[in-house]
Amino acid sequence: MTATTRHARIEALTFDLDDTLWDNRPVMEHAEPTHYAWLDTELADWLAASPLGELFAGHERYAQRFPLAAYIERRLALARRHPLRRGDFTWLRERALIELLEEYGLPRSAAHLWAAAAIGHFLTLRHTLTPYPEAIPLLDALRQDYALAAITNGNADLQRLELAQHFPVVIAAGELLAPKPDARPFLAALARLGSRPARALHVGDSWKEDVLPAWRLGMRVAWIDKHDERRTDLPPGVHRLAHIRELTALLERLDGER
Ligand SMILES: [Mg+2]
Repeated sequence: MTATTRHARIEALTFDLDDTLWDNRPVMEHAEPTHYAWLDTELADWLAASPLGELFAGHERYAQRFPLAAYIERRLALARRHPLRRGDFTWLRERALIELLEEYGLPRSAAHLWAAAAIGHFLTLRHTLTPYPEAIPLLDALRQDYALAAITNGNADLQRLELAQHFPVVIAAGELLAPKPDARPFLAALARLGSRPARALHVGDSWKEDVLPAWRLGMRVAWIDKHDERRTDLPPGVHRLAHIRELTALLERLDGER
């Protein structure tokens, strides 16, 4: 990458979502146990009232047989078995639940229905989130000057969030079976924005899934150092920010350096 292209005017910005535009840890810490407990309770009530109830009388409850840790372990095992799906978290969750529910003894059709219901509940909880207070005004201002895209491996569905209106292009990389750090979601986003790497900057918190792949493509990068790693080996074109609120100042500085 030549110095010239590193200094081309930035016209497109691509954004990671989780832990870049909001703090995702509390969201998941709530959604994970809550949807699983919901499944356990609702399933027990349903079984008690259904003709299947007799078969399960005296059985341990679903979540006793398969505690939350077993569900998490099953997802990890599925991701190892299906590497192309490793970033498709909704699929992994649903497959894991179907397997566990069938092993618990539910007929296949009931396992599918209950897995789908639990995923629906999970997705509702997962979208109950609050972007950083700076995020919406920031995106509002940036969209005047830049083409904006979101690239996420996660299962946040932007259409369910107020943030959606700020992103004309959204790439759900996990569902494309090409999760970051694959270069394809970045290239897909830039193609849809009509831009190219030398004219784009990616904003994200993950060194491995955001910074390195974007930088290797020749994009500039704003690394949100959420975990305060404070790396000192930043390659040229990679800029450390402690928080998304510092992005405007960085863009002004980069524009001034041209
Ligand atoms: Mg992230």
